[in-house]
Amino acid sequence: MSLESNIKAAIRDVPDFPKPGIMFKDITPIFENQTLCNEIVDGFINIIGPKPDAIVGIESRGFLFGLLLANKLNVPFVLVRKAGKLPYKTISHEYELEYGTAKIEMHVDSLKPNWNVLIHDDLLATGGTAEAAANLIKQQGSKVCGFTFVVGLEFLNGKDKLIKHSNNITCLAQY
Ligand code: AMP
Repeated sequence: MSLESNIKAAIRDVPDFPKPGIMFKDITPIFENQTLCNEIVDGFINIIGPKPDAIVGIESRGFLFGLLLANKLNVPFVLVRKAGKLPYKTISHEYELEYGTAKIEMHVDSLKPNWNVLIHDDLLATGGTAEAAANLIKQQGSKVCGFTFVVGLEFLNGKDKLIKHSNNITCLAQY
């Protein structure tokens, strides 16, 4: 079976979570399968192109494969978190949600100017969260060299928001 079909076989669809009308793609069964975890990390490495200088993972499921990938590539892993969660001095970026706004943060000293930074999250839906992370990286004077997601919900066209930051966008399993 292909990597994509192995991922799809492991993902559990949970209807109406966290609210009615949403089909939640539960990736937690993937973490019970060590072989599949390794294949996912290698799958990213085979596709992403030149090694980035750092990987930024988005709270919270983006921390899981983000850290595994960064460790395997031997590059720093940097956390993007919701406002108020990081203990040291932060920079922040506020962005629009369907209703209201959200704010994400990163420690001020995590990235160096001109670094090529890869953004990772578990799932690409509308692209709003990953785009906000890209803006945070640019505020630091670093560059976005790509995006990786385990899952992409293609019908939501999230790539349209990201392409202006980098066209190197990988979703291992597409719906
Ligand atoms: P978006 O900003 O719309 O691309 O949403 C992406 C974020 O929301 C990711 O951090 C995902 O973990 C989460 N997310 C959005 N939709 C889903 C879904 N259908 N299943 C699981 N996670 C989702």
